[in-house]
Amino acid sequence: MNVSGIDIAIQKSERKTVSIFIERDGSVSARVPAKLNDDEIKDILEAKEYQIFKNLAEWTQLNENAVEREYVNGQSFLYLGRNYRLKIVKESSGIVRFFRNTFYLGEKDQPKAKELFIQFYKEKLNSKIHPIIERYKDQLGVAPQQIKVMELQNRWASCTPSGNVNFHWKCAMAPIDVLHYMVVHELAHLIHNNHTQAFWNEVDKILPNYDEQINWLKINGSGMDL
Ligand SMILES: [Zn+2]
Repeated sequence: MNVSGIDIAIQKSERKTVSIFIERDGSVSARVPAKLNDDEIKDILEAKEYQIFKNLAEWTQLNENAVEREYVNGQSFLYLGRNYRLKIVKESSGIVRFFRNTFYLGEKDQPKAKELFIQFYKEKLNSKIHPIIERYKDQLGVAPQQIKVMELQNRWASCTPSGNVNFHWKCAMAPIDVLHYMVVHELAHLIHNNHTQAFWNEVDKILPNYDEQINWLKINGSGMDL
């Protein structure tokens, strides 16, 4: 069905309300109550035109930041919220090195560049995250147990009821303020294992501007990748 110039795939089902979804590929679909006829559906979708355009704009912005990086001279990589260029050098040291705002990688190390970058981010995040946890754990009155930097599925960080906290190595790509937010978010989960208002109040007490960090992640999150 075409609504305001947008093709919308209609899926009828036994439901009471209309929901609009932007699919992974950017196409739009609407789930609608089976009892509605085409005119009724069109009326409802037209009334939601603003919401559809807003969701599409968000989808476009998120996907523009998703990049496939190659490990060649001049390619840029995120580190603590900024982009730095890669320089390929003759001597191979078996690691990714970072100094004077430039990444360095040896010619011979290029085939395993991705692995070496992951190693770099893991090490850096490990050294950054512990002092941040130390800073906030007493303020929140929590006692985190094991802290691990690892590869996580579809999330930046996670915690267990027993107090273990895991961070994705990609967090090293975020600005330090965002890192602080991620730590406070996970530590606050050791008090409230949910996203209720009580949980957010706990975050807000420590970081009153936390919505700025959430916003940064919304806009740049998809670019935090290799
Ligand atoms: Zn959470």
